[in-house]
Amino acid sequence: MFRETARRFVEREIAPHYYQWEQDARVPREVWLKAGEAGLLLCDVPEEYGGMGGDFRHSVIVMEELGRAGATGVFFSLHSDIVAPYILKYGSEQLKRAWLNRMATGEAIGAIAMTEPSAGSDLQAIRTTAVREGDEYVISGQKVFISNGQTADLVIVACKTDPKQGAKGMSLIVVETDRPGFRRGRQLKKIGMHSQDTSELFFDQVRVPVSNILATEGQGFALLMNELAQERLTQAVKAIAACEAALAWTIDYVTQRHAFGKPIAAFQNTQFKIAEMKARIVAQRVLVDRCIELHLERKFDSVDAAMAKMTTTELQCEVVDECLQLHGGYGYMTEFPIARAYADARYTKIAGGSIEVMKTIIARSLFAR
Ligand SMILES: Cc1cc2nc3c(=O)[nH]c(=O)nc-3n(C[C@H](O)[C@H](O)[C@H](O)COP(=O)(O)OP(=O)(O)OC[C@H]3O[C@@H](n4cnc5c(N)ncnc54)[C@H](O)[C@@H]3O)c2cc1C
Repeated sequence: MFRETARRFVEREIAPHYYQWEQDARVPREVWLKAGEAGLLLCDVPEEYGGMGGDFRHSVIVMEELGRAGATGVFFSLHSDIVAPYILKYGSEQLKRAWLNRMATGEAIGAIAMTEPSAGSDLQAIRTTAVREGDEYVISGQKVFISNGQTADLVIVACKTDPKQGAKGMSLIVVETDRPGFRRGRQLKKIGMHSQDTSELFFDQVRVPVSNILATEGQGFALLMNELAQERLTQAVKAIAACEAALAWTIDYVTQRHAFGKPIAAFQNTQFKIAEMKARIVAQRVLVDRCIELHLERKFDSVDAAMAKMTTTELQCEVVDECLQLHGGYGYMTEFPIARAYADARYTKIAGGSIEVMKTIIARSLFAR
């Protein structure tokens, strides 16, 4: 029943408008409000904080239905499954009451800012500082590539509370975007996902109360390591949904398009390519479903997440390439979803931890001794 609700919502409120949003380089705020009203945001947050009181599988359904429509720039999952859990698990009661309800209705949009111009994979090298002055932190620094950056009402900011200490000197602090000293920079031009407002953010002595810190001072890096497993699982879920969508569009296309007097689907090459992709996608689908089960049982760890994220995003890039090829010249035209899916796919091997970082995590677990 929930999938049906999500599917109808995406078919009615997102799919018909999505191409225009790509041209406009924005996802309108109204769609966030409508999604909130339909119960599609903060699915696994308890009802007492305004959420749906479901579990991670409800979030998965929302991601899958957005993926089915190729609506990759609508970042509900970042908001619901990455930002909200930090506040729910590590925020003060005051922070939870202030934000979760409004995030569930779509009135407030969340973002998380870790990456800086000179530090991405190497998060310990960030330079943004939070200096404690009485009951406040004073935050100064710069972030880049921040998803939902132009629309966010709150940003979880990774900063150094003790720059002399490496990982132990890092904290996560919630910054409301109406605070003096906060400034949004450019919405960055990307090769794909044009509707997503990936941006630069600037913090010039932004003062926030100390109660805005998540967990306690110095725990930021540990929190990130804990929560990145779920973030990477969301990426795997989105990657497999993107593969399934690309294959479905391609089967439709090759069935209708003719060359040399027969449908493209009648060529053995087409059938073999599609058969190969189908088998590989099903194998990864089984892995992702198993990862979701492990996550629900609280047995899913960072190494599982690295393996799932790496293999699914690599498959996504290969599948969209093969599917584009089967579309011929039309596959290169952005009015065709496969062309956009091709450009959109490329970032998945970089963001949220690159493929190389995933390999490092997996290798470290094997050679730890
Ligand atoms: C569309 C998009 C959205 C994003 N959204 C967000 C967001 O919302 N919030 C946020 O904080 N960040 C976001 N990011 C940033 C993203 O997480 C970083 O780009 C990513 O972590 C890589 O960091 P970097 O770009 O600094 O690359 P670098 O760290 O400079 O890496 C460059 C290359 O070196 C490789 N490399 C680095 N270290 C090693 C190593 N130890 N061994 C082997 N190879 C290595 C990398 O794999 C990569 O190939 C987003 C990025 C994109 C593209």
